[in-house]
Amino acid sequence: MKVVKFGGSSVANADQISKVVEIVRADLDRKIVVVSAPGKRHRDDTKVTDLLITLARRVLEGEAYEHSLEQVVDRYGEIQRELGLSDDVLDEVREDLENRIANRGSHEAQFMDTMKAAGEDNNAKVIAAAFNHAGCSAEYVNPGEAGMLLSDEFGNAEVLPQSYGALAALRDRDGIVIFPGFFGETRGGELATFPRGGSDITGAILSAAVKADVYENFTDVDSVYAMDPRLVDHAPAIDRMTYREMRELAYAGFGVFHDEAIVPAVHAEIPICIKNTNRPNAPGTLVVPTREISGAQVAGISSAEGFSAIYIDKYMMNREVGFGRHLLQIFEDEQISYEHTPSGIDNMSVILHSQQLVGKEAKVLERIQSELIPDAINVEHGLALLMVVGEGMRYAVGMAAKATHALADAGVNIEMVNQGASEISMMFAVKAEDRKKALSSLGEVFFG
Ligand code: ASP
Repeated sequence: MKVVKFGGSSVANADQISKVVEIVRADLDRKIVVVSAPGKRHRDDTKVTDLLITLARRVLEGEAYEHSLEQVVDRYGEIQRELGLSDDVLDEVREDLENRIANRGSHEAQFMDTMKAAGEDNNAKVIAAAFNHAGCSAEYVNPGEAGMLLSDEFGNAEVLPQSYGALAALRDRDGIVIFPGFFGETRGGELATFPRGGSDITGAILSAAVKADVYENFTDVDSVYAMDPRLVDHAPAIDRMTYREMRELAYAGFGVFHDEAIVPAVHAEIPICIKNTNRPNAPGTLVVPTREISGAQVAGISSAEGFSAIYIDKYMMNREVGFGRHLLQIFEDEQISYEHTPSGIDNMSVILHSQQLVGKEAKVLERIQSELIPDAINVEHGLALLMVVGEGMRYAVGMAAKATHALADAGVNIEMVNQGASEISMMFAVKAEDRKKALSSLGEVFFG
């Protein structure tokens, strides 16, 4: 049995929804279908979720909102007309939105979630109608009624553990289940949403709950690529990688899906397959608990900009009990999260997202200076991190040498190396302007 999730671009219009029907129909194992709200039909389009946020803001601010409401209804209207569904569908969408507005309470964040959830909820109803219209028996299932219980952190809710037991019953339903992504209900019966992009989370939760054989995540790319195709030409496709490889690659810029989103599937060891709605027969990328390591030791190389490093030097630092703790305490006190802390005998560096330092940098440096009395502190902004990731690196000899040679050949200065903490990755910090050059040269030595 498969749980299948279709993202916003896969359900953005009637054509895309027809592809969804065909994809599900082509494989009898595809029994639970999680859908997003209609996404962008073209680059300059607006997602329905964003239209709903505008609508909700207008309502909250007491402005005229009728035009915004019609914009949302129109998106479903286009789908309804092109699929030849009954006009009732459209009246139901309008009525649903009006009810959500009329029944709002005083809690603004909760109202915002109720409105955001309308995108997936109505789309799931429309898509269920599209399946039935195409002669494929399908049923819309309401997340709250099915037992998708969430914490009441509106806009950032988390699933409650008891959901899994309740949702397992979806397995026994006849026909195809069409389940809206992105939201559930609190114990108080109020709608709450996951963070943006949260339909992926719904899919992962359902896969774990019903113990699916695979969680298929349909999007608009054929596979995950070993390097960002926007930065380098000829990036090879990855056909199989482990959860750990995905996590390390996602950390530094792999945007196919949010690594946190798939945690429930990872815990339940459900394989995840990323596939393309527009080319469903392309094999996609399979993300699995373990994989056999053959020739390809490196699975991928990711990169991201926007990092800063604070270097601290102090003679005899290694003898000073509590130095590292004290340094990190300063960051904790200032509510700053850091990414890496490479260290030597007399130096320690803290690498962090530059935005973490905004408005706090002077204070942090001043505290380090006065409390730790270092010999030198240097701050460097505008760094990029490159992560070379692969399970096979654990066993292979000379990987670091290969990487550093490649960077040297490309004339890239390595600002920092972090290797060892993770057996399956090597991290290099370089100047942001060297990022592309560094990536191409690493790509060349590891992928040819
Ligand atoms: N529609 C929601 C969003 O745009 C959730 C999703 O598509 O996954 O964030």
